[in-house]
Amino acid sequence: MSDTRDLFHLPEGIVYLDGNSLGPLPKAASSRIARTVEAEWGERLINGWNEAGWMDQPARLGNRIGRLIGAAPGTVVVGETLTIRIFQCLAAALQLRPDRRVVLSDTGNFPSDLYAAQGLLEALGRGYQLKTVASDAVEDALGPDVAVLMLTEVDYRTGARHDMAHLTRAAQDAGAVVIWDLAHSTGAVPVDLTTCNAEFAAGCTYKYLNAGPGAPAFLYARADISELVQPALAGWLGHAAPFDFTPEFIPAGGATRFRVGTPPVLQMAALDAALDAFEGQDLELLHARACALAERLAEGFLSACPELERLTPSEPAARGSQISFSHPKGYAMVQALIAQGVIGDFRAPDILRFGIAPLYVTEADVDAAITAFGRVIAGQLWDDPAYATHKPVT
Ligand SMILES: *Cc1c(COP(=O)(O)O)cnc(C)c1O
Repeated sequence: MSDTRDLFHLPEGIVYLDGNSLGPLPKAASSRIARTVEAEWGERLINGWNEAGWMDQPARLGNRIGRLIGAAPGTVVVGETLTIRIFQCLAAALQLRPDRRVVLSDTGNFPSDLYAAQGLLEALGRGYQLKTVASDAVEDALGPDVAVLMLTEVDYRTGARHDMAHLTRAAQDAGAVVIWDLAHSTGAVPVDLTTCNAEFAAGCTYKYLNAGPGAPAFLYARADISELVQPALAGWLGHAAPFDFTPEFIPAGGATRFRVGTPPVLQMAALDAALDAFEGQDLELLHARACALAERLAEGFLSACPELERLTPSEPAARGSQISFSHPKGYAMVQALIAQGVIGDFRAPDILRFGIAPLYVTEADVDAAITAFGRVIAGQLWDDPAYATHKPVT
């Protein structure tokens, strides 16, 4: 039994293996949001910005997240969505290599990251090019034309994990600037941005950090780098003195210059409460527990259905905290499992994906999932016309 499980609201009879997509509700978030709504917004009205510390939340919460990813104080700022953060990181990174034209990524990267890059490069014109290669071919594709290496550490489909420190060094040796997307890393695997020395990183807070649907993203800029770049998406709250209302943009110091607009105060209250669950947790141990639970699940699922193809590596250093398989009937199998009370998810074209977050997922959950999957396979429960068409959100 996990001693932190009780910090979360988990509906009766449900095994939740989808915290890699949307973390469950931390009980403390409900009361924190209620307090922010009633005592702060309700009673203090606009004075909340000064009196309740709303304006400082992006930096204060950035520092809290920073402790989970090895980032120095003042280098992480919270707000916006991850797609916007990737756009900002890339725009800033390109300024540091004005003579190079290639942005290198891998084909396993999350489409939104690639779309943001494509949109930015098209807007910039000037011959910029996005080049994507297979995830094991990234190092070989580094060269004198590569301005920026932009990767997601843990592949959202397979759960395979890049060697961040090694690739960062290789890219920097080749003269490139490095951006890491930590969407599936933050709160799931040990990350040490300071040692890794990458220039930029970004991540979201609604996955393993459990801050709720629509919770804000974060951006990391290495301490020596912020001052060298002008934010492309300059907004008033990234200004050194927003309330001077000067017509020209004068960037604030540190990562604060990457703030854009008004922070989502209620979601940040949820994030603040959600982060409490990570106090005193060792990400190294948490990840080791996730790997052990994932192996247990893999063994049970593969013995029920040997036709599943396992996609996630077994070596802990080479993987995140999810376990994924592929199967032509993957979508229907996931739907049938959900009908049995075991929530995982599906990623096109044929991937069954299960997030293992040991703050609340236990061995008993994994065993219940294995039993349910055994029923789905033995009874061919996946073979139901109701599962023939995909829902809008898979
Ligand atoms: C979840 C995820 C996103 C989502 O971006 P939003 O702008 O927050 O919707 C982007 N990139 C990666 C790698 C992700 O895993």
